Amino acid sequence: NHLIHHLRASSVGRDDSVFALTPGAGTVTFGDLFDQAERIAAALVAAGLAPGDRVAAQIQKSTTALALYLGTVMAGGVFLPLNTAYTDAEMTYFLGDAQPCVLVCDPSSVMGLGDIAQTQGIRAVFTLGPDGTGTLTEASARTGSGFRPVPRGPDDLAAMLYTSGTTGRSKGAMLSHGNLVSNALALAEVWRFSQIDVLIHALPIFHTHGLFVATNVSLVSGASLVFLPAFDPDAIIAALPLATVLMGVPTFYVRLLDHPSLTGAAVAGMRLFISGSAPLLAETHARWRRATGHAILERYGMTETNMNTSNPYDGPRIAGTVGLALPGIEVRVCDPATGTPLPSGQVGSIEIRGPNVFKGYWQMPEKTAAEFRKNGFFISGDLGSLDAAGYLTIVGRSKDLIISGGYNIYPKEVEDAIDSIPGVLESAVIGLAHADLGEVVAAVVVLAKDAELTEAAIFSRLQGQLARFKQPRALWFAPSLPRNAMGKVLKNVLRDKFSEASR
Ligand code: ATP
Ligand code: MG
Repeated sequence: NHLIHHLRASSVGRDDSVFALTPGAGTVTFGDLFDQAERIAAALVAAGLAPGDRVAAQIQKSTTALALYLGTVMAGGVFLPLNTAYTDAEMTYFLGDAQPCVLVCDPSSVMGLGDIAQTQGIRAVFTLGPDGTGTLTEASARTGSGFRPVPRGPDDLAAMLYTSGTTGRSKGAMLSHGNLVSNALALAEVWRFSQIDVLIHALPIFHTHGLFVATNVSLVSGASLVFLPAFDPDAIIAALPLATVLMGVPTFYVRLLDHPSLTGAAVAGMRLFISGSAPLLAETHARWRRATGHAILERYGMTETNMNTSNPYDGPRIAGTVGLALPGIEVRVCDPATGTPLPSGQVGSIEIRGPNVFKGYWQMPEKTAAEFRKNGFFISGDLGSLDAAGYLTIVGRSKDLIISGGYNIYPKEVEDAIDSIPGVLESAVIGLAHADLGEVVAAVVVLAKDAELTEAAIFSRLQGQLARFKQPRALWFAPSLPRNAMGKVLKNVLRDKFSEASR
């Protein structure tokens, strides 16, 4: 079993070493983790799981949830974690689409989900609570340990993850054993992970970042985790003296910067701070460096590909860029229409080829075909440019690009200009249909508490900063921006809402 073999290799003979330290709930050793995974694998097979079957899980974060991931893969199954924020209506869609054999859910949601599972023809439903109790644990306690992992090769599927649904309906990305192994090994190498590392794990585990980047990289290198149920600045500050690495989304860093105990002394034992999943502002990078002496290492990836690029461990970590292609992975920037590579410095479609690239979208052969070039490059849907040294800078998503009077406008540039106006908390810039120009720029602005800023004041501030064609023609104030369960701004919702309003 390709993935299990690699995730287990570094802890063989170290069964008594700590895999995870869960403040307030004790420790889990590597022996405990894999023993539990073997029992879960046996329970899943007893419930009817055959190789290639999906195991859907909508459960709280726990080390038993990680054992379920490993147990599913050991049993030859395909692990399908689902966001804990999804409602029953959303779950009906995902379960209907994915047709899993087994569903594992929180004890509190088994009433609603049990019915949905029955209508969807799901064979078995188990419960698993955040403290590790539930019918899954009961069933696995009845099985023996020593389950022999079902043989699976690099091309067999290990997981299916739905994309975050930022640009439209979430798509199921099929990920193979080879995809996950190659990326975990590449990241462990470039980030210099080893058995002496201790990673602060405060990310959700239903997404690539927390499940694969954080967990797989730690397992392939035999590192330990300080395993926190969720992001909590106090808990992170308390974990710093025990740890060597933190992985977070940009908000982690922004919020930690507000913490009075974030000092150089507090991070004395830390060797690396990694950020990804959303753009890290250059300003946050600079503030973090001033506060701690560390340059945050930013990397870039997506559900379909795991990680593609990373700023270097040694060598300059350039704020505002997502760094260099990972070993074994090709990253290029092309003319979106033709797929011809562009010279460095020019903005175009970011495309990726390598062992990390997924096997396609679940039950969407046409969509899959449309997102690949004939030579195997995957069209990421992001736009950016490469500099002469190979550093990638992301400017936004293709779907968000605004074309006005024949000019390309990258919303991020306009958002940055608006966000830098005192009194603005955040903004989202979208394109709205326009009879003469094709599209025009419109902005939705959220003001900071108690700020008194008028539309006219914002327009006049932007006049000196942005070329006329980039300046918003319409502006709305909103109390907040619509976001999906991953916290990403839903521009399609804004476009729908405000194209009505502008008519
Ligand atoms: P959907 O594909 O359903 O619209 P999504 O693309 O948001 O949703 P994910 O796979 O979770 O779903 O997110 C990947 C995207 O996140 C990337 O394509 C990119 O736009 C963004 N991203 C990830 N890391 C970074 C980063 N370091 N800087 C900027 N953007 C990033
Ligand atoms: Mg996407």
